[in-house]
Formats: sequence, C-alpha cells, structure tokens
Amino acid sequence: MSLSRRDFFKIGGATAAGVATGARGLDLAPVEAAATSLKIKEAQVFRSVCPYCAVGCGQLIYARDGKIIDIEGDPDTPHTLGRLCPKGAATIQLSNNPLRPIKPLYRAPGSDHWEEKPLEWMYEQVARRYYEAREKHFIEKERGKDGAEITVNRLEAIASLGSACADNEECYLLSKLNRTFGIVYHEHQARV
Ligand code: SF4
Repeated sequence: MSLSRRDFFKIGGATAAGVATGARGLDLAPVEAAATSLKIKEAQVFRSVCPYCAVGCGQLIYARDGKIIDIEGDPDTPHTLGRLCPKGAATIQLSNNPLRPIKPLYRAPGSDHWEEKPLEWMYEQVARRYYEAREKHFIEKERGKDGAEITVNRLEAIASLGSACADNEECYLLSKLNRTFGIVYHEHQARV
C-alpha cells in the first residue's frame, strides 16, 4: 500500500487521538497521587535549581533523615512548569549514586590508570601547568602581512572550556583570567 504524506499525518493524528482517549478512559490520578504521597511522605522539601545548565529549571528536593530521597521539577517555575530534561531528572544521582567518584582522580601522561590525589595537589598542578605553559608559549609579537612587527600578546597553548554550571560571576572571573593570560581559545559547552 502506498501512503502519501497527507495519509501519513491523518493516520498519525488518529492514532494519537486514540491513545489520548484511552488514557483519559482510565483515571490514574488517585494512583499517581497515592504513589507520590508514599514516596515523599514525611520528607522535608527544599526549593532549588538544577545545577547542570543555564536553563535553570526549578527543582523540589525531598529529604528524609538527612538523605535526599527524591528530586522533581518544581511546578511553580514559570518557564518550565515542573518539567526537567532527562539529565535534570537524574540529578538525585549527584548525591546518592555509589558509583560517582567523589575524590579527585589524576591520570599521569602516558599512564593507563587513575590515582587518587588530594584536591590541594590538583590546584597546585593546574596553577603550575598554567604558569609553565604561558612562560613557554606566550607570543608577544608577530609579523603582520606587511612584514612589520606588531604586538599581539597571545597564548595559543591553552584552551579554556567553560561550564554551564558556572554562574555569571564565575564566568566573569574565568574570562578575566583567560584574557589576562592572553588565551584566545575561550569557549563554552552550552549553546543556550
Ligand atoms: S540540565 Fe535539563 S533540567 Fe537541568 S537546567 Fe538544564 S534543561 Fe533544565
């Protein structure tokens, strides 16, 4: 049977309507309400914002006995009305996923394994490597098209990739630091 584009949309629309009618025929509201009330019964609720990206979806965090037991979208958030994307809906794993690394891990150049290191050691490494890379690769002057020497004060050996977890002030400070170093590859992972 050949199907025109118009036929395809007609069938798709009819199917969707059938599913919607079926869903309406069975009232799941009491079941859903009971399940929800059991899950978060006697839990304290805290308002928060999803930490992952700049969309800033509101979240309700439920905790019992000092442990987070559930995180849901906050229906009072005007731009999301309680929705979370799959990543935001899994935020609870930030706090109680046993597989999540919670100590800094370092893999040395050429190594095939990760080692635990103190956070202070990591900071020192980052600062030292930033400094050394800049000392070694900073370009102060280069020749223009006409052969004349011009000042560029540029560092191409370091690239900076921002994070959607960073707030305005953190982004401002990172930009300042990068510009101070002469870093030109200054990017961000989010496209919001
Ligand atoms: S990661 Fe998803 S849930 Fe979190 S703020 Fe961004 S869009 Fe919202």
